[in-house]
Amino acid sequence: MIDLRAQYSTLKDEIDSAIAEVLHNTDFIDGKAVGKFAGELQKYLGVKHVIPCANGTDALMLALMALDLKPKDEVIVSDFTFAAPAEAVLFLGLTPVFADINPDTFCIDPASVEQNITSRTKAIIPVHLFGQYADMTAITDIARKHNLYVIEDTAQALGAKTAGTTGAAVSGNIACTSFFPSKNLSCYGDGGACFTDDDIFAERIRIFAHHGSRIKYRHETTGINSRLDTLQAAILSVKLPYLDKWNTKRAEIAEKYTKALSDTVKCPAIAGIHIFHQYTILLKDEETRDGLQKHLQKNGIASAVYYPYPLHTQKAYTTAADCPVTSNICPRVLSLPIYPELTDEQINCITDTLKNYLS
Ligand SMILES: *Cc1c(COP(=O)(O)O)cnc(C)c1O
Repeated sequence: MIDLRAQYSTLKDEIDSAIAEVLHNTDFIDGKAVGKFAGELQKYLGVKHVIPCANGTDALMLALMALDLKPKDEVIVSDFTFAAPAEAVLFLGLTPVFADINPDTFCIDPASVEQNITSRTKAIIPVHLFGQYADMTAITDIARKHNLYVIEDTAQALGAKTAGTTGAAVSGNIACTSFFPSKNLSCYGDGGACFTDDDIFAERIRIFAHHGSRIKYRHETTGINSRLDTLQAAILSVKLPYLDKWNTKRAEIAEKYTKALSDTVKCPAIAGIHIFHQYTILLKDEETRDGLQKHLQKNGIASAVYYPYPLHTQKAYTTAADCPVTSNICPRVLSLPIYPELTDEQINCITDTLKNYLS
């Protein structure tokens, strides 16, 4: 789905010397490169605070911890996404409530969010899924009307810029991201960060991420240990200046896919900004989807099903939820390879193979 070696080979000298410098300094935990990267990302996003942490799931947990909610308070999450938002909510003793998605953007549907609000609802976690910026205007309006917090999950959309927002940063209260190796901005292991314009949330997140302490060996509260490794921060500093170029390249590849495939399958819609973390098509039914995937595989072409099951049907999260759109599309989605180094020759091979099967 992604050729990590292709990207590394274009940056090898810069990456190798950044790693060598950390090895020379041996400041592996909270080293110089961590603060440097946080400052660079803060400037890139135009946001007041960036708090690096160990991974994107921790970022969501830390953001929820900062809201200081009460047990069983409800948090509205999307039924169609990677499980981390629901997992973080449940892990903290809160209750996830699953909202349905918009069938064109795959992002949480503001109308479904509003239908799921109760007197216990305290927050909404929209995910900018597949790189498509969610409808934050509608979501922040709903949040304001019902006095709810908004935590944005930008793990798949870092750098998705829209007017009034910078890089899928904070139109909500806190934004969370991941630097997992397959993300648009990625490191060579686990990594994550929270962003916020709010001084109080930033301070709380920082304390929670460092064992509940501001000063070493003084614990004000129960926290966790969640830090971005210095080595990973150094790698991310090398890569950040390329992010916009890479995101543009992804959008160009998506355009080529759509041009070749729009007569054959339902291609992703672009609503506002989309940086194509994934390029996800919709087939007419499960049998066609699974048959196509096998055909692609036989021809040496990767594809993936993001995501095969509605979250509300998972054993870990099972709950009553009214999400007909998610239930309808899970058996029909298929994501095609997309990454900045994908060549025209590869794109043509993928689209030809796909069309051969479907026509
Ligand atoms: C990858 C991802 C996460 C989790 O990030 P990790 O760094 O793997 O913990 C959370 N939410 C979404 C939408 C993701 O794609």
